[in-house]
This record gives sequence, C-alpha cells and structure tokens, in this order.
Amino acid sequence: MKHLKGIKLRHRKNTEDFSTIDFPLPSKIILPMSMHMGVPCTPLVKVGDCVRVGEKIGDCEAPFSVPIHSSVSGKVTAISDYRNAVGAVCKAVEIETDGKQEIYENIAPPVITDRGSFIKAVRECGVCGLGGAGFPTHIKLNPKNEIDTLIINAAECEPYITSDYREMLENTNDILSGIEFIKNILGIKNVKIAVEGNKPKAIEIFEELTKHDNDVEIHTLPSVYPQGAEKVIIYNTTGRIVKEGTIPAEVGVIVINVSTVGFIYRYSQTGMPFITRRITVDGNAVKESKNIFAPVGTPIVDILNFCKTDIDSLKAVISGGPMMGMCIPDINMPISKTTNALLAFNKYDDRKTSACIRCGRCADVCPFNLVPAEIDKAYKIRDVEDLLALKVNLCMNCGSCTYVCPANRKLAETNQLAKTILPKM
Ligand code: SF4
Ligand code: SF4
Repeated sequence: MKHLKGIKLRHRKNTEDFSTIDFPLPSKIILPMSMHMGVPCTPLVKVGDCVRVGEKIGDCEAPFSVPIHSSVSGKVTAISDYRNAVGAVCKAVEIETDGKQEIYENIAPPVITDRGSFIKAVRECGVCGLGGAGFPTHIKLNPKNEIDTLIINAAECEPYITSDYREMLENTNDILSGIEFIKNILGIKNVKIAVEGNKPKAIEIFEELTKHDNDVEIHTLPSVYPQGAEKVIIYNTTGRIVKEGTIPAEVGVIVINVSTVGFIYRYSQTGMPFITRRITVDGNAVKESKNIFAPVGTPIVDILNFCKTDIDSLKAVISGGPMMGMCIPDINMPISKTTNALLAFNKYDDRKTSACIRCGRCADVCPFNLVPAEIDKAYKIRDVEDLLALKVNLCMNCGSCTYVCPANRKLAETNQLAKTILPKM
C-alpha cells in the first residue's frame, strides 16, 4: 500500500534519552476552564475555598466537555476571565499552593463493570486527547458504529517532542495494560500500535512484549511528517479512507494517543484524575532541555526558569511542536492538559514573503492533495465559491506547504483564515 504524502524534517529529538523528572511544586497554578475541545466548564469553587489534589474544581453538564481537577492542594485566590493563545475567553481558577499536597479524600479507583461505567469513569477523570488536540476521550471511546480496529497513535512526528516516546519507554506496561483493558471492555478485535521508524527502541520493546499476542500488531510508519495526523495514520495503517464530513468510527476505527492509553490504565488503578502532564522542554533558548512531569496549570515562566532558559533573549515560545504548535503570547500563561512540549527560541524565521513562483511544491507535499497556492489566490480576493471548490475545509493545518514554499508564503495560516469565511455547515 502506498503511504500518503509527507515531508522529511530534521527530527531534533534532543531529549529522547532524557528520563522524565518531577517539576518542583509551583507557588501557584492557573486552571483555565477550557483545556479541551468542547464546552468550557463552570468553576465549582469560589475565592477563599481550600482545595486538595485531585478535587474537581470545574465541570459542565454538556456531554461534549470534561471536568477539571486541582493538581495541587491550596487556596483559591482568584477566579477571573482568561484569554487563551487563540483569543478565546473563559474563566480561570487561580490556586495558591500550600506545599502539603493533601490528596482529596474521595480519590479511589473507579468501579468499572461494563462499557457504560467505563465511559462514565473516563469522563470523570478529565482526560482529553493528550497528543495535543484535546478531543474528549470519553466521546472518542463511545462511538455508535461497530469498531474492529483500535489504532494507538505513537507516531509523535513533530520535531523536538519526545513526551510520548518517554511514556513508551517509561510506562510500557501501563500502555499495554490500557490497550488490553480498552480492547476487552469495548470488544475490539484488532490493535495496531503505530510508531514512526525513528523510534527503534520503542518498537523493539513493544514487539518483545506483544510477541505472544496475536491481536496486537506493531506497525512501523515511515519517519515522514505528518504521520500522526488522524486521517493520515488511519490510511497508512489500514488503507481505509475517512471521507469528507465523516469520522474514523465510520470506517470501524478508533485512534487514541499512546499517552492517553497509559493514563487511562493508571487512573483505573488509582482513581487519580488527569492533573499532571509530561512535557518536553527544548529549543535554542533553553540551556537545560528536559522531559518533566508538571502539575497542570503551572505557569510557563516557572518551567522555562527551571530549565535555565535565557528569558531576556526569547523571541518565540511555542506550546507543542514547531509545525502545528501555538505561539504563546505571554509566558505567564499556564500549561494545559494538552501541552506536550514547550519550545523556546531566541530567533525566529524573519525571511520576507515574496510572490508565488508557481513551483508546485506546496501541492506536491499536501497529504490531502490540496492546492495551497490556488487557495492563497482565492482567499486574497475572498472568493468563497473557489475556496469551497478547492476544499480548503479539508486542510488539517499540518504546515507542510508553508515549510516547503521557497517564497515563504504563510500558506497554512492563510488556509486557517480562509476557513473562517466559509459558510457554516
Ligand atoms: S497545511 Fe493544509 S494545505 Fe498545507 S499541506 Fe497541510 S493539509 Fe495540505
Ligand atoms: S510552494 Fe510557494 S511558490 Fe511554490 S507554488 Fe506553492 S505558494 Fe507558490
């Protein structure tokens, strides 16, 4: 089977051999009520309340949402409006830590007896896609369609990031137990652990530990970006095409991030909700690159200081990878449940943008066969009909077209803007 198109990037996995270390308790955390895709939570606490580790402090009745728990013990000092990196506003709860890290008394392993109690438990633990997208995991694991294949997304194809890789090496048994648990409770026959070929150690360990399990296959993907994108990984591991306007479950597949699976197993054993995040900290402004476990809500500036970052020289801090990550407008903002990396740089790409030379490279690399140069032209004159015909809605913002453009045109950004002028479906 031919794989979908992609580009070769320098992997820069500088931290791949760095074991994860615990980040020291911050003096305060900030918990935005929206760290997931879906409806924001409402705070369940008020200023002055004392909270403990694992206590629920935000929730929402909408099904497409997940609750938020405190990662520290301490006192609520503020509840205020918070603007995230893309400008969306929600409430945020600020908690001053008391240094005791007292555990909330109701923390206990969930009672899981069937699919219903499993889905309820997954919602209650507050987990959402840890690969960066933040899709509520309880929705993903509860499709209406018949599922025959569970794909474990272990591609981690963005440069620099090694947080999933460290989960694979440090918590292999949690991942395999999580797979077994999900597979049995949802009645899924086949499992494919999809890993890029640039992670031979992880592949070797998975192969060794699953050699007697006929239901689990280790699928090695080419080290070509973007293997981890959902539609790409489904096609490249099963040959199935998720058509426009449909979801993976409609082709019998669930794709779940490898760290999410490991966490679900740990939660099933301890009952501690999702409050700690493994993060890769790297970039040329960071003197001591690391993989760390940090409480969700820790201010980014604290983490950068811990990794001896030259704060005065900073030109850009990215949450996530350099291809699909988000530039952070203020380093006092907190990390969220979906922050898998913080990359700090002391220079940025300041090449000038010039006119398109019609080289066709952008179309050559697009996994979905889009023609970004034509979309760019249509967006310039706000030609909605052309944008629809050019299928800009299918763009997943992988950034490959921008990366290869010799004229340095910001094609992926333009696609995002173009989507905002399409009629709502
Ligand atoms: S950003 Fe969009 S148009 Fe560009 S290569 Fe990726 S999917 Fe294609
Ligand atoms: S890669 Fe850049 S220069 Fe080449 S066709 Fe696309 S937009 Fe034009």
